[in-house]
Amino acid sequence: MITGPTSWAAAKTSASIASASSARRSSGSRCFASSPRNGMTIDGTVKDTIEVSASGNAALADRLESFAALLELADAQYHAVRAYRRAAEVIRSTPAPVAELVRAGRAQELRGIGPGIEGRLRELVETGDIQELADLERELAPELIGLGRLLGIGAKRGVEVGRALGISTLDEFREAAEEGRLQNVPGIGPQTERKLVDALRAAERPTPPRGLLLNRAWALSQTIADPFGAEVAGDPRRFKDSSERLAVVACADGPKPLLDEFERLAQIVTVLERSDDRSIGVTVEGIPVELVVVPRERFGTELLRATGSESYVAALEPLPDGRDEEAVYAALEIPFCPPELREHPFRGEPPPLVTLGEIRGDLHCHTTWSDGRESVYEMGRAARELGYEYLAICDHTPAVGAVPGLGPDDVRRQAEEIAAANERLAPFRVLAGIECDIRPDGELDLPDDVLAELDWVQASVHGGQRQSREQLTARSVGALENPYVSALSHPTGRYIGRRPPNAVDIEAVLETAKRYGKAVEINGLPDRIDLRDAHVRLAVEAGVPVVCSTDAHSIRGLGNMRNAVATARRGWATAADVINTRPLAEILALRLR
Ligand SMILES: [Zn+2]
Ligand SMILES: [Zn+2]
Repeated sequence: MITGPTSWAAAKTSASIASASSARRSSGSRCFASSPRNGMTIDGTVKDTIEVSASGNAALADRLESFAALLELADAQYHAVRAYRRAAEVIRSTPAPVAELVRAGRAQELRGIGPGIEGRLRELVETGDIQELADLERELAPELIGLGRLLGIGAKRGVEVGRALGISTLDEFREAAEEGRLQNVPGIGPQTERKLVDALRAAERPTPPRGLLLNRAWALSQTIADPFGAEVAGDPRRFKDSSERLAVVACADGPKPLLDEFERLAQIVTVLERSDDRSIGVTVEGIPVELVVVPRERFGTELLRATGSESYVAALEPLPDGRDEEAVYAALEIPFCPPELREHPFRGEPPPLVTLGEIRGDLHCHTTWSDGRESVYEMGRAARELGYEYLAICDHTPAVGAVPGLGPDDVRRQAEEIAAANERLAPFRVLAGIECDIRPDGELDLPDDVLAELDWVQASVHGGQRQSREQLTARSVGALENPYVSALSHPTGRYIGRRPPNAVDIEAVLETAKRYGKAVEINGLPDRIDLRDAHVRLAVEAGVPVVCSTDAHSIRGLGNMRNAVATARRGWATAADVINTRPLAEILALRLR
């Protein structure tokens, strides 16, 4: 059930996280900034064939940026300044030619561009400039504005530095830097000079592409697949934690009408490539999406081809024709391979991977007691509706800082609320749990006697992620040695695309978990997915139990179990490896050892 795009979690989770993650990803991706070929066409509403130039967008963005900077220097409203800056960011990272979108009246399809900014853009595209900007430029020192942004020192300081050097362009600034003249500027010492030179160098390197997080990738794929009755393939079907390639496969004898319709979809900003049976479009985020249209007899073949990683598929080629994937694998005379394992070449017999249907409960979620959106009872009822036997409420402790945390008294008061919820929900069981911070000094944030009263204890590193490998490892290992801790949350602390994994020695953590029979979490939040697939495999091989959790902060968040289970599958986990496939009595018995 985990592999099907129609499973319950897909429907429940996709919409919510889609909006959350798109807001977070405001800077978008640049992976197509230089790759689209000349003469590509925008969809049916724009007839011209145009030359794609990333510099076209860059030029527009630069003008908006200058406008924002000048507005700032002219003491305009903070919100207006920020809006123009954001719009510039979006335009800079949009792979499609924004000028064409503006001409087609579609600029507002880009995130962060409202009617006001669209008006300015139209003026810019049609007349080549913005009148108000030209006026401001006469008053202020505009050529140097971009410097501040580039060097990360702010617009005002950029102007000051440029004036002090007597320069007006980036090239002149580069020259001045090479000649070592930066230190002549008041306020620039050797350290700042080094920083500016580094920033200058960094600005010359292209930004690496950023993929879509799981829920957004699924939601987007689904909205593109649905109109065509197509199947979602590509990176999301393998549950890759960051999707760089989307694909959907549809069945039809005459592909042309479907391909035409695909190219008119609102989600497709521009078309990169088109052939008889497929079209590759690109989304606002710069992610390529392929629609493949095939006759029924070859559907399985193309679905397999569009799902596996390049190396996986290449190792199986040539693929025989098949109506479904089962038929293709049968013709290849190798066992069926679940999509999650189609990352690396593999022709063997996969183990019976854990399925979503085998999950009996969720052992990490939040309520209004800390930073969750729903009450204990509401979360419990929702978990019961999902067919679970149990749900552990694990709100934060005070050290987490940014959000309310529970001290010893709160924990006891919450236990009463949990008992009351259990009376209404029986035989379903709400477990009294906690997400207890492991403080930077290694101490747990609640005393042992409080932890001893609970049914389930998650231990978490939140603050102090930049500590040394020794410190971070000692914190996690120490927590797992505490007899009242049940599991280690999000063990590496990463946020995909925003924060790399911390320096913790994951093998030392797994060794300790194994010694004390503790679980390590696969956190299903799409921007965490932590442990990640490769670490899950290490845990499974070492015989360490994993726990698939959602870390839900709302009822909808409970749907992220699909991500956690898929990641477990990518790490070759079977039901026996996953602790929350066990019945309630066994979960409770873990506390009594
Ligand atoms: Zn946490
Ligand atoms: Zn949490």
